[in-house]
Amino acid sequence: MTEFDLIRRFFTRATPGAVVGVGDDAALLHMSPGMELAVSTDMLVSGTHFFADADPFMLGHKTLAVNLSDMAAMGAQPRWATLSIALPEASEAWLEKFSAGFFALAQQYGVELVGGDTTRGPLNLCVTIMGELPQGAGLLRSGAKVGDEVWVSGTLGDAALALAHLQQHISLSEAELAACAPALHQPQPRVELGLALRGIANSAIDISDGLLADLGHILDASHAGAEIDIARLPTSPVMRAHMEQQLGKQCVLSGGDAYELCFTSPAMRHADILNIGARLELPLTRIGKIVAGQGCVVRDANGVSLDTGDGGYDHFR
Ligand code: ADP
Ligand code: MG
Repeated sequence: MTEFDLIRRFFTRATPGAVVGVGDDAALLHMSPGMELAVSTDMLVSGTHFFADADPFMLGHKTLAVNLSDMAAMGAQPRWATLSIALPEASEAWLEKFSAGFFALAQQYGVELVGGDTTRGPLNLCVTIMGELPQGAGLLRSGAKVGDEVWVSGTLGDAALALAHLQQHISLSEAELAACAPALHQPQPRVELGLALRGIANSAIDISDGLLADLGHILDASHAGAEIDIARLPTSPVMRAHMEQQLGKQCVLSGGDAYELCFTSPAMRHADILNIGARLELPLTRIGKIVAGQGCVVRDANGVSLDTGDGGYDHFR
């Protein structure tokens, strides 16, 4: 199999939403009038973001999911993606499953793969995603206002808990692992939520490095502080069973790979947010509020503020 056979066989699908897709020197894309282009890149490196023997179907899903999550956090409608991939060898069985996982999710969100690059090397997967949104409608990190409510989607901590088990920092039963592993291996990007929050949320971010770290980015960009109640943080039954341990709290507050949205919106929008959650059948939980000042104060059930250390995952710390 040559490089071009590989691209044709595994990464070339119809792209009716592009002027020119895979196969030329560049893709040509036509933007809808009045729209802004949202562009984001996320790279997954073997040994850093996933285990070398990760299930290729789930890896294909996750490679795109983490990028869709960035579109969600901007309130953008995902449209196109490119995929740059370094492979130690051209295993047909691996490529078959990886591309199936990638395209299953791409199809679900109407994303077209319009190009990429393919080389030999240590396993490395890099997607650039492009989406559209009406001019000025982007959900920025910098828009939080004092008095805003702080919300998160879904539940927090499951992915980090599954990872802690795989890294032997904690021991989960088989049933517990089965319940929280999908959050780690097949995160569901909250694209519909991001779209629904346009014109309602003042700020948004997706939780890739942990709630405290990512909410911290909103606070820094918005020159504001936040108060969060730990008892309000939405967690799964498995996560709740481990919350008394220090590691459990860390998974919820600082665990990466959640790919839920954290957003802020005016208190008068409270009912609108609950309606969006009901319509999308996605739990949306108010976890605290934006206050004047800086940094995030986390309070326990008795109102005592916790020492939360220094936040989330940082590749270079
Ligand atoms: P060039 O040599 O001009 O950079 P390439 O040989 O790298 O072109 O790629 C040929 C075509 O295949 C291009 O359209 C490129 O975007 C596309 N392509 C390469 N690798 C991938 C991939 N992994 N997924 C999707 N498209 C790809
Ligand atoms: Mg190239």
